[in-house]
Amino acid sequence: MKKLLLLVSLLPLFSQAADYEKVSVEVVAENLNGSAYYIPGLSGAATEYEGFISNAGFVITSEGVVVFDGLGTPSLADAMLNEIRKLTDKPIKLVIVSHYHADHIYGLQVFKEQGAQIWAPKGTWDYLDSETATSLLDSRRTALYPWVNDETYLVDPDRIIDKDTNFSLGENQFLLTYFGKVHSEGDMSLLSINDQTLYSGDLIFEGRIPFVGDADIIKWSKTLDRVRNIEMEYFVPGHGMASDQPQETMDLTYRYLNFLIKQLTLAVDEMTPFDEAYNAIDWSEFEDEPAFEAANRKNAYAVYLYLERVL
Ligand SMILES: [Zn+2]
Repeated sequence: MKKLLLLVSLLPLFSQAADYEKVSVEVVAENLNGSAYYIPGLSGAATEYEGFISNAGFVITSEGVVVFDGLGTPSLADAMLNEIRKLTDKPIKLVIVSHYHADHIYGLQVFKEQGAQIWAPKGTWDYLDSETATSLLDSRRTALYPWVNDETYLVDPDRIIDKDTNFSLGENQFLLTYFGKVHSEGDMSLLSINDQTLYSGDLIFEGRIPFVGDADIIKWSKTLDRVRNIEMEYFVPGHGMASDQPQETMDLTYRYLNFLIKQLTLAVDEMTPFDEAYNAIDWSEFEDEPAFEAANRKNAYAVYLYLERVL
């Protein structure tokens, strides 16, 4: 009897937890190959499109579902879960998080509530323990209200990945490649070997100028050489369209980062002040790309400061 009472009193709690504000953006799963799917986010700034600006993915195996990244709000993740439920009723076993940045993690609680394990790259705790993590969540509770609200919380990982790791679920084989501190405090990719599909996270931005922020740009450029050598047929970037032409999908990020490094290394070597250097650089190769206006000058300045420190 006691047990039953406890169950009954817990029920409203559970139903409340699963009750997320609906989104009006269209969250649709696309099949890439075999059991591999992705959710294409829209191309926009952090708080545009109800926060739906990053990609996520999932792989359906006979034993359950492996999710890649958690989208930018619990509401978006809940919409993604609905898409998964149209395809399978298998349990959500695992969420692989490419990196801890707001637009990839605010939906994690939805999958955690489904009983999934969260695996994240080393460096995740540096983010979770930072002032940035707390203050950003606070400001997004306003900027992305009602989809991010007081019920939204940061989910701790269950397992930290600090080296390349193979695992399997059902008949599916997977490879996690750990890159270290590259685009964020820690980055990793997921390869679904059976589907020859690589989910790269934010090492690659397709169709727009990437966000450099406080990335280790030289390591990022070297890491792209590594990513370009992973054997795969389908490529899902952190932002932008997936494709069956991996080298093309990677091309813009690759060219852009190497251009920044080359041009700004010259400027720092010659001790040219930033403004003067920036104005002298011929940006025509990139100036028509989406997000150029919003991101390029900030990126260039971040890289300039970075190179001043390391050169
Ligand atoms: Zn990111």
